[in-house]
Parts: sequence; structure tokens; C-alpha cells
Amino acid sequence: MPVLVMKFGGTSVANLDRIKRAAKRVGVEVAKGYDVIVIVSAMSGKTNELVGWVDETSPLYDAREYDAIVSSGENVTAGLMALTLQEMDVPARSWQGWQVPVKTTSAHSAARIEEIPTDNLMAKFGEGMKVAVVAGFQGVSPEGRITTLGRGGSDTTAVAFAAAFEAERCDIYTDVDGVYTTDPRITDKARKLDKIAFEEMLELASLGAKVLQTRSVELAMRYKVKLRVLSSFEEQSDTAGTLVCAEEEIMESNVVSGIAYSRDEAKMTLVSVADRPGIAAAIFGPLSDAGVNVDMIIQNIAEDGRTDMTFSCPTDQVKRAEKAMEDAKAAGEINYHDLIADTNVAKISAVGIGMRSQSGVAAKMFKTLSDEGINIKVIATSEIKISVLVDRKYMELAVQALHDAFELEKAA
Ligand code: ADP
Ligand code: ASP
Ligand code: MG
Repeated sequence: MPVLVMKFGGTSVANLDRIKRAAKRVGVEVAKGYDVIVIVSAMSGKTNELVGWVDETSPLYDAREYDAIVSSGENVTAGLMALTLQEMDVPARSWQGWQVPVKTTSAHSAARIEEIPTDNLMAKFGEGMKVAVVAGFQGVSPEGRITTLGRGGSDTTAVAFAAAFEAERCDIYTDVDGVYTTDPRITDKARKLDKIAFEEMLELASLGAKVLQTRSVELAMRYKVKLRVLSSFEEQSDTAGTLVCAEEEIMESNVVSGIAYSRDEAKMTLVSVADRPGIAAAIFGPLSDAGVNVDMIIQNIAEDGRTDMTFSCPTDQVKRAEKAMEDAKAAGEINYHDLIADTNVAKISAVGIGMRSQSGVAAKMFKTLSDEGINIKVIATSEIKISVLVDRKYMELAVQALHDAFELEKAA
């Protein structure tokens, strides 16, 4: 039997009624002759509640217990989904990550899937089971402890299963009917894309578009998984949603395909560091060793042999970055007057593979922001994206202005 992977996000399993509606969709695919692997998230809001309980109990928590607690939301929905399917006379059972087993690294709260053996599930499909409901977001470490894959990780569970079982398709059911030119919550001019290239989706996801976890796109690209994003709230059809696919499958596209934003970025400035060879290595080496993900970097013009160095990193890594810099200073590796963390910024990015062959995108982006009176604090570019840091209060305005300027409401 061909295998289909169907993933339901938090809002799609938010209550018993929604689980029933999701189960009906699964029933439709079973009736078509598929063996279905259903990946479920926790009911919406549940994971946040669990994280809140962990933080309240233990601010510097043991990450292994964090994972034991935070993974539990998915266990509930997996069991409920299996029961709901059984009530519909669809042979189904639930699987927690360790039962499959979804083998991961031991990087708790940010584990990576290393292997998903297919024999256990295949044996059950062979015995007549039609649906395997698997708790998303979780796995088991080589030490036998429960792990989680980072927030939004059920997307990655789904794609990893689709790759392991060579599924015909991986359908990601969510609360929007596809991938849009920008978050439809920010502007109603956002347009749904029928197709988006893996590389563009990868950039959009990593730059803040939460519709797919970045790692899931990486896996889909590597294993050539046919990945579709669609709504669990709308009528089912074979052409619904957005197909994430190879660049060659897209005939026409705009120079800029989408605008992403992230409010989770902080700007850090080391004031007055010595301008000498090796200083960048002395700063960014310790940051990297401390696990800080530096994205953008600016070094100012030196005056009297000293300069300011500015970089950006995720807001929740600010404390770690500060400690790494203080330790490097105490060890005499670097010397600076002050370290200023600005967490009141947002990162806005324009993404498009068309940028490879067309110039002027950066200039247009800067002009648009300047016309709105928005000051750019830091800039970073790559072949297919341009990112800027701006004051957080301008985030929505910047996204809307850029969406207009690049005429994203119109198809190419
Ligand atoms: P789920 O719980 O189903 O995993 P998420 O909340 O993780 O859903 O992701 C869906 C949300 O992603 C949407 O509600 C939307 O607000 C947001 N989003 C951000 N950028 C985009 C985009 N470019 N296209 C579609 N949705 C986006
Ligand atoms: N429930 C987890 C989260 O909220 C995983 C997921 O939904 O993908 O992050
Ligand atoms: Mg999600």
C-alpha cells in the first residue's frame, strides 16, 4: 500500500470536535487505499502551558525533565486521535516517539532525528492497521531519555517519517490554507502561493515564518519529500494548499517571493574594542563555543585604534552571549568598554530566488523603509535574501510597506 503522512498542528487538534474533523480527513485518505501515518501536535496552547510550568518550577531547569514534561501534550492528542479513528471503525493505534522508536541526538529541547526504523509500523500495517498515529515533536536519545525537537518540531517529525517510509506525500494541515507572501496576520494583502521553492521556504522559515519549522524544510529538500501545506479548516481537494518543491517545477515567480519577520532577534553592541587583527575571531569564537547563533555583523570604522562591533542573535541567547563576552574579557582575550543589548528590534527579510539574477532589490528595500521614516540598524544579505534590523515598533509597517513595494499581492 502507498503511504501518506498527514500532520495536524495545534489548532487542528485544539478540541475533541476538531480532532473528529481531522480524523474524518484521515478516513477519506484511508478509503482511497493509503496506509496513513498521522503526526499530531499538542492541542493549541498546551505546549506553552507546559513550558510555563517548567519555568515556574525551575528557572535553570534540567533539560531532560523539560523534554519529559513538554513532550506530554502530543501523547494526549495521539491517543485521542487513535480512539476517534477507532470509533469510526478505522483500525488505528497511537505511538509515542520512543515506541517507534524515533532515534534522536541527546541535544535536549533541540534534538535532531538520526533514524526512524520502519519495521515496527510496517509490521502493524501488514497486520491490517490502517493508521499509525504518532506523537510529533518527540523522540528518544541514545541514553534512553525522552527528547524534543525544538518548538514547531512536529513538522520535522512529519517530514522525517515521510522520508523514512518513502511516503507519496507529506501533508501539513494547519490554520492557514498554504504558504503566503507574508504572514496573513500582518496584512490582508498577503497572497497564497501555489508553489514555493525549497530554498525560498528554507530562508522564509529560518527568518521567522513559523508556518514550517526550518529543519522540516531542510529534510524535505534533502530527501525530495513532496511537501504540501494546507488548511484543516477548509474543504479537501487534491490541488489545495501550497506545494513546496524544486525550483525547476516553478515556471514564473516574482523577484521577491515573500517577506518574513522575526521579533525574536536582539542587537548586541560591544563598545570600543581594540581594532587589531584577530579581534573578530576573539569575539565570535567564544560566542560560537557558547552556542550563540550570530546572524548579522557590523564593524564600525575605527577611531584611535578602537571600534564598535555589532551583531544580532536570538533574544533568548542574549544572557548566554553576555556571559561568553564577560568570560572572554576576564580571560584577557578581548577588551571592551561596554556591552549593550537592544531587545527592542525586529528582523525583516525579503526572500526570492529571482534576486540571484536581478539587481536593485536591496536599493528598493532601503528606499521603501526610508520613505516610511524607518531607520535601518543592521543589514545582512545572502544570494537570495536581504535582512534588516529595525525598531520593533515599526515591524508591521515595514512588512506592509515592503509587501506593497514589491507588489507581492500580484502574481508574476
Ligand atoms: P501549527 O500549529 O499548525 O503548526 P503554526 O502556528 O506553527 O501552526 O503555523 C501557522 C501560522 O504561521 C499561521 O497561522 C501564520 O500566522 C503563520 N505564518 C507566518 N508566516 C507565514 C506565511 N508566509 N504563510 C503562511 N503562514 C505564515
Ligand atoms: N507542540 C509543539 C510546539 O508547540 C510542537 C509543534 O506543535 O510542532 O512547539
Ligand atoms: Mg507549527
